[in-house]
Amino acid sequence: MPSQSAKSLAVLTVPAFRDNYIWVIHNGHHAVVVDPGEAAPVQAALDKHELTLAAIVLTHHHNDHMGGVESLLQKTSVPVFGPRHEKTPIQGVSHPVSEGDNVTIPSLPLRLKVLDTPGHTLGHISYHAETQRWLFCGDTLFTGGCGRLLEGSPQQMTASLAKLAALPDNTLVYCAHEYTLSNLQFALAVEPANHALQTRMAEAQAQRAQGQPTVPSTIALEKATNPFLRYTEPAIMENLFAKGLLKEREAVLSFAAIREWKNSF
Ligand code: ZN
Ligand code: FE
Repeated sequence: MPSQSAKSLAVLTVPAFRDNYIWVIHNGHHAVVVDPGEAAPVQAALDKHELTLAAIVLTHHHNDHMGGVESLLQKTSVPVFGPRHEKTPIQGVSHPVSEGDNVTIPSLPLRLKVLDTPGHTLGHISYHAETQRWLFCGDTLFTGGCGRLLEGSPQQMTASLAKLAALPDNTLVYCAHEYTLSNLQFALAVEPANHALQTRMAEAQAQRAQGQPTVPSTIALEKATNPFLRYTEPAIMENLFAKGLLKEREAVLSFAAIREWKNSF
């Protein structure tokens, strides 16, 4: 479980299920866990690093992001921050939050700004640690891709992604799944001549061959290689046109065409 330090805080990578990542933000004593889909690997990480759970934060209502909450709360009672605007309220959330709210935890020097990022689900939120330049974006922005539009519209998702793309270039992108290789394979079909993308694919393949996570990435890398942030690039629109996937050179239509192509790729 590698960690990255920034100021006095660090982030532990806790793999769960087949391809989920649960993030544990800690200062060596107390910890905040992001999207605990299952409790056992989180508890193991807390025990191993001798950390006391201080809070849980959730990005959206899917079970692979919150399935472990109940079990974690049985061992200790901590505040649970979660999206205010999901279709049905999430059980166990003690502090519903939305854009404009800040999550602060007394035992940690951490402030998480809440951003509304609907699209994958209607209430999906992301958490931005401005000081540390960390973004916890659940299933909205993926490394090399984006979440499926299970509830929201292409308009909502493009607005959400634009909000995240506007964060500082060196912001670390902590998404909730290891999907990088399959995402980049698709990205290369969308934009075959992108050199930054070719380089990224080679690097990601080397990381995965060594069993290393490819997450976090950076906002700069996503802007340079992720087709779901690059849908207005002329080369991408021309490719979509040539394939008969786009009839009109319009941004949101281009995004929607890429998203639909990916669904059956
Ligand atoms: Zn999800
Ligand atoms: Fe998920």
